[in-house]
Amino acid sequence: MVKDLKELVQWHPEIASLESIGKSVDGRELYALKLGTGKEEVLVNASHHAREHMTTNVVMEMADQYAHLYKTNGRMNGYSVQSILKKTSIYFVPMVNPDGVSLVQLGAKSAKNKAAVIKINGGKTNFSAWKANVRGVDLNRQYPATWSTICCNPGKPSPQNYKGPKALSEPEAKAMYDFTLKHSFKASAAYHSSGQIIFWHFHQSGARKTRDYTIAKKISNKTGYSLVAPRSNPSGGGYTDWFIQNEKKPGLTIEISPYVGNRPVPIIYFSSIWKQNNTIGILLANETIK
Ligand SMILES: [Zn+2]
Repeated sequence: MVKDLKELVQWHPEIASLESIGKSVDGRELYALKLGTGKEEVLVNASHHAREHMTTNVVMEMADQYAHLYKTNGRMNGYSVQSILKKTSIYFVPMVNPDGVSLVQLGAKSAKNKAAVIKINGGKTNFSAWKANVRGVDLNRQYPATWSTICCNPGKPSPQNYKGPKALSEPEAKAMYDFTLKHSFKASAAYHSSGQIIFWHFHQSGARKTRDYTIAKKISNKTGYSLVAPRSNPSGGGYTDWFIQNEKKPGLTIEISPYVGNRPVPIIYFSSIWKQNNTIGILLANETIK
């Protein structure tokens, strides 16, 4: 991924740039790729959860194809990518949790502290069900949006669901938080797997609810994924929850793939997932142009 990001920027210096927004627990860079020259900004992120690493491929494919379509002045499903990216900039954070993804893909040898990750994993050396960062904290239960009342918290480092000792205790979540506050994103999409559903609601009401529902519906129409009905008491702590609450802009959590249980999405699903999601970044950017 890092090699591809650097190559993409070399190929498309006129619209693409790369920065590190922080480092993971084990010292891996957390990359943000900017695509576009316009002033309206949107954010697309992926792989908060380790085993959901196919989301990184979806987001990287978006960046690659949008950059190519910009250069060739081509269209994707009717969207003029060049004219949209002249008015907007899409920021991609394709892998929020590189330590966790490495653990799922490469096993304990990828971690600085092998013994610690095996212990958190209950002695098992198969990490395919792991969601957390390398310290066993669930990065999508780290954000300060009703953090204190997050449901079903195991209370100690775990392969999934542990919310950490305090909100933003983990450098990966803190990096996303700081990066978001530094910018003025008009919308955000956080990619997860699985289930073919879209979360879009977190306590917003009135005109904001109508606005956010309208965008969520467009994404639902494109992907075919169902919108999760608003609940009066959602658990909280997720990036999207915090984004909606704090930035007061539309935020979406998009769960790719048919439901596959506690494991990575099988590669065989990629081409259908790509067709369902290829325009989502450009759709989101286009929504900010009024
Ligand atoms: Zn997830």
